[in-house]
Amino acid sequence: MSKHIATLIPGDGIGPEVVQATRRILDATGVEIAWEEAHAGESIFRKGVPSGVPEETIASIAKTRVVLKGPLGTPVGFGEKSANVTLRKLFETYGNIRPVREFSGVPTAFSGRGVDLVVVRENVEDLYAGIEHMQTPGVAQCLKLISRKGCEKIVRLGFELAKAEGRKMVHCATKANIMKFTEGFMKKVFEEIAKEYPEIESQHIIIDNCAHQLVKKPEQFDVIITTNMNGDIISDLSSGLIGGLGFAPSANIGQGIAIFEAVHGSAPKYAGLDVANPTAMILSGVLLLRHIGELAAARTVENAVLATLEDGTSVTKDVAGNNPPVGTQAYADAVIANFGRQPSRFGARDYKEIQMPKFSGGPVTVIPKQRATLGCDVFVEGDCTPVQLGDFLTTIAGAAGLRLKMISNRGTQVYPSRGAETDCVDQWRCRFFAVAETGVPVSALATLLTAIEDGGYRWMHIEKLQEFDGQPAYTKAQGED
Ligand code: NAP
Repeated sequence: MSKHIATLIPGDGIGPEVVQATRRILDATGVEIAWEEAHAGESIFRKGVPSGVPEETIASIAKTRVVLKGPLGTPVGFGEKSANVTLRKLFETYGNIRPVREFSGVPTAFSGRGVDLVVVRENVEDLYAGIEHMQTPGVAQCLKLISRKGCEKIVRLGFELAKAEGRKMVHCATKANIMKFTEGFMKKVFEEIAKEYPEIESQHIIIDNCAHQLVKKPEQFDVIITTNMNGDIISDLSSGLIGGLGFAPSANIGQGIAIFEAVHGSAPKYAGLDVANPTAMILSGVLLLRHIGELAAARTVENAVLATLEDGTSVTKDVAGNNPPVGTQAYADAVIANFGRQPSRFGARDYKEIQMPKFSGGPVTVIPKQRATLGCDVFVEGDCTPVQLGDFLTTIAGAAGLRLKMISNRGTQVYPSRGAETDCVDQWRCRFFAVAETGVPVSALATLLTAIEDGGYRWMHIEKLQEFDGQPAYTKAQGED
């Protein structure tokens, strides 16, 4: 019986070729992996499975807990959601680890700087929760959900990865200066957890400056922990620093489960031509070997890839320059032939097995000692001026035991006017506070919403204004006192 089992998803486009090259290399290390082939993506969408991920594939992953996956095409015009995102979410792979490092033999604008960093991206929350609504026919909303639990998981994973890889510096990149609760949660949790890792230097950086610094001085970064959307963007930026998508591997890590894949897609124009660069997929295979504890084999493969690229004589079309390129499978043969060799520069790091953080399964992780409901924000649709709406709401609020404090339009107070020159749209956030200490009973809301509709306006969303342990759990509008 093999020592390890893993699910192998060949994927679409160039996927089967780069996955085949990687499988041959991993098998050539002598590590015993029983591969269980399963399918997802375009071929499955075409069979009429709307998720693109059939039950057999889900069952295989649930059993093996380790996946080597080729890129999956997201067809335009049929199929519902991306099969990639479905897989990440089905198996709660909360951590997306995207390492990039300079390769000698792959010239870029940054060659010689020693770029060697890992983006640790939260992989399931944030805007990618995909909770969207059209609030009015002309105004769309996407909820940005960030949980304390989600932040803790990714931050601990980032620090444990830094420890395992002997890295000295961890940045946390957020937009906490603007989004104080959501992005601010990540910053807050990062600063708390960083204290548990005194041997690692830690620093918060605002995400836009992080992007700027990555291009200006990428060698200053070691590990960057970040939220989903930020991480999506800066990890692609980072792959551009070392030669592009053909070189960027990734791991999607969950509790006891991991999916390894190249960052790139199915590059359909190269499908079946034996020209695709399999480096990103092979290095994803290196991450897989490390994940299953085969550190020596991982080192052998990584050094062989680095030596092959450094030689420059057996490389694929995208990096061959003036030399004749080799095909995908011939490149894999060259890597296997180079087992045991070391590159002269930028060799494989020393890795220890990563200590995966453990988390409880329950949904509630934060219980305040005190909570109160002070009021509510009611989001209203109306083709009106701020004064028309504000005067109307002021007159009806009293009957519900509420008072209108202000109205904002896309976050800026427009009633009472603070002189803002807001170009208003038909979605108004109307902030009410309870007059008495009774909070906002459901009956008061019913009275208020009925009066709003009777007045010829529509309401589409309500948010409670809460206080946890005496701290407001809502932010103010721009211009609100
Ligand atoms: P892509 O497949 O990554 O290809 C974009 C370009 O990158 C290619 O045209 C090629 O550039 C280069 N490239 C990518 N991988 C390469 C490799 N291994 N070797 C050499 N060159 C490589 O991106 P896309 O065209 O936007 O997406 C195609 C499909 O893949 C879409 O259906 C998309 O949804 C899907 N996708 C899947 C994943 C995933 O499974 N994780 C990720 C991204 C996209 P040149 O043209 O310059 O040679």
